Amino acid sequence: MNTPLFDITKVNTPCYVIEQDYIRKNCEILKQVCDNTGCRILLAQKAFSAYSTYPLISQYLNGTTASGLHEAILGHDKFGGETHVFSPAYTEEDIKELIRYADHFVFNSIRQFNKFKEYMVGKAVLIRVNPRFSTQEGHEIYDPCAPLSRLGSTISSFEKDVREFGLDGIDGIHFHTLCEQNSDDLYKTAMEVERQFGKYLKYFSEINFGGGHHITRDDYDIPLLEKTINHFKDKYGLTVYLEPGEAVALNAGFAVTTVLDIIEGSINNEQDIAIMDISAACHMPDVLEMPYRPVILDSRFNKAGEKGEYRYHYRLGSNTCLAGDITGDYSFKEPLKPGDRLVLCDMAIYSMVKNNTFNGMKLPDIYLNQKGRTERIKTFGYEDFLSRL
Ligand SMILES: *Cc1c(COP(=O)(O)O)cnc(C)c1O
Repeated sequence: MNTPLFDITKVNTPCYVIEQDYIRKNCEILKQVCDNTGCRILLAQKAFSAYSTYPLISQYLNGTTASGLHEAILGHDKFGGETHVFSPAYTEEDIKELIRYADHFVFNSIRQFNKFKEYMVGKAVLIRVNPRFSTQEGHEIYDPCAPLSRLGSTISSFEKDVREFGLDGIDGIHFHTLCEQNSDDLYKTAMEVERQFGKYLKYFSEINFGGGHHITRDDYDIPLLEKTINHFKDKYGLTVYLEPGEAVALNAGFAVTTVLDIIEGSINNEQDIAIMDISAACHMPDVLEMPYRPVILDSRFNKAGEKGEYRYHYRLGSNTCLAGDITGDYSFKEPLKPGDRLVLCDMAIYSMVKNNTFNGMKLPDIYLNQKGRTERIKTFGYEDFLSRL
């Protein structure tokens, strides 16, 4: 577990702090995979688009991938390198703009590609396929292989399209079916993709394994990832792409919050409640959406425990009016009091890109920390609320 390298008393709360040294550590691991295998790795900006860090990340990775026009412009302008884009269905207006920024287009079907074929001159074209081979349980919202998925062509729709349109103009296939998974699940999925789509691979030059690879997690099996990459490279001569989001900024950011008030449980015969100045609903929506329980550190960086693990336990809620805006039940070695600071871990990914101003809440400031220098790069106010409504 990474702990903050900055002084948590010297920032305004609520805020996010990005630790450049932890980003660099992740990037070094990813670059090693590229060096060992010849694969190419892109930052999936959907997870993390704090572009102040792009000058650092672009020293290691080959480019970015985008979920649509705005991310593609950002990747092209601020990161450079290759710019890939995927959309389940493009609009013609977007395609007309996108061709100025993106070099790789991933289409949801051969039929979608043919609709826009005239615009794809000089572009690499990939078709997203869906092996309907689910390796994850519990988070159906993040499983592209869940029943009725709209993400990618199944083998039967792919083959129907091949009969109608042929493979002309197509450079490869793309699959994205994982979420926070290890390489054993990737290996199984890749073998299933090969079983279904293998006979087409000799016509292609690229394959993209999507994201969801937790490559920078301590227990990730990198040799098996490299074996999977090498299999497709050696057997079919394909250039292999990976496009992780999480893995690039995993455990590389923190949110800092101040405890504003304590509601004593003894009065109601319930547990104590701490009200924080950070909101799950507004500032870390995945806590409610996924849902998941963030690791929390007290001001001395002791890890908060499960309910009942330490003597003092609290329900941590926020200062919005949403009853369910609760981060969770946590226990601490020392009692909390107003003014105390808490650190929420792994808050670089899917946080800044997803936050909102529900309740008119102020957005957290964003800081960048590097080598003892903590710089505030964004601060937000009333205008940010106003400008969107
Ligand atoms: C979400 C997504 C990614 C990145 O996923 P992570 O879980 O953040 O690694 C990559 N490619 C596609 C197509 C995605 O939808």
